[in-house]
Amino acid sequence: MYVPWRRVASWHCDACGICCYRYRVRLTFYEYLKLRPTGLVEEKFGRYYIRKIGGRCPFQVGRLCSLQGVKKPAACKLFPFFVRRKGERDAFYEYNGEEFYVYISTDCPNVVLSRERRESKRVESLVREAVQLYTGEKRNVEFITAPTVV
Ligand code: SF4
Ligand code: SF4
Repeated sequence: MYVPWRRVASWHCDACGICCYRYRVRLTFYEYLKLRPTGLVEEKFGRYYIRKIGGRCPFQVGRLCSLQGVKKPAACKLFPFFVRRKGERDAFYEYNGEEFYVYISTDCPNVVLSRERRESKRVESLVREAVQLYTGEKRNVEFITAPTVV
């Protein structure tokens, strides 16, 4: 389930690794080209993915991600945040005069929902970074995901 960011009281990543085996990671074409030499990506019906091996992402080592910096797919950097161009009022976020709608996946066990609509300053700073990643203004995360060094 995805909830608008204003309905989330808090979140942190403790690198549990659940998202790395639950999802099939979709790549942009550019990400696909970068990772193609590994032989661990695939194209299906014009869409690009990390190939799952044994039901999990082959780049996961233990609980952590072995891909660093620019090689780590944007979808992975963003999770559990999802940025859209359309959405509901509680997901609205204005950045540089543009409208974005940010949702957070409750599949992450560390998402704590709020009983009422609120704007957590901490969550708002994460939302800001998610939007910066989405627009390409920022390439690497500082706050959203846990350190990925293995
Ligand atoms: S984003 Fe959530 S599910 Fe993924 S590693 Fe971090 S705590 Fe675990
Ligand atoms: S690329 Fe890294 S962050 Fe993405 S699913 Fe694989 S191990 Fe997890």
